[in-house]
Amino acid sequence: MSSTTERYCRACGESVAPDTDVCPHCGVGTRTTDVGTPMAYCRDCGEEIRSAAEICPHCGVRQQPAPASFGSVESDLESLFRRNRGVVAAVASFFFPGLGQLLNREVVKGLLVFVGFVAASFSIVFGVGLILAPAVFVYGVYDAYRTGKRLETAAEGGRPHA
Ligand SMILES: [Zn+2]
Ligand SMILES: [Zn+2]
Repeated sequence: MSSTTERYCRACGESVAPDTDVCPHCGVGTRTTDVGTPMAYCRDCGEEIRSAAEICPHCGVRQQPAPASFGSVESDLESLFRRNRGVVAAVASFFFPGLGQLLNREVVKGLLVFVGFVAASFSIVFGVGLILAPAVFVYGVYDAYRTGKRLETAAEGGRPHA
C-alpha cells in the first residue's frame, strides 16, 4: 500500500507532504485533532481562515503561538521511528515475535509469526521445535527489519504526486 507516503490534512482534506507540520492549504497543523474547525479571520490580512490555523495560508503570519514542546517531542519521536523503522521493528520482534510486523502494518504476518512461534515452542517436546522455534524467531526479527528498511526507503524517496 502506498498510503504511507501520502497524507491528507485533517482539517481541509488536501494532500500534504509527509514531513510538513502545517498544512499549506489551510494553515492548520497537520497533527491537529481539531477536525472541522470553525472559521475565523486572520489578525493580519483579515482573510477568512480556520480558527485552528497556526499560520494564515494567505499572508503567512503566525496566528497562534507555536504548539507546546510536547508536540515537537512527539514529532521528533515519530520521525526517529520513521527513519529507523528497520531497527525498531527488529527490536520489537526480538522481544515479542510478530510485534515488529505489526509496527510495519503487516497484521496478518505478525499474527502468523506469533502463532507460528508459539506452535513451534510447543513442538519442542517432539524435538522438531528445537529447530523450528529459533527459525521462526529469527525469521520474525529478520523480516521485521527487512520490511522496516523498505518502508524507510519508501518514506524517504517517495514524495506525494501533487
Ligand atoms: Zn489543510
Ligand atoms: Zn493573513
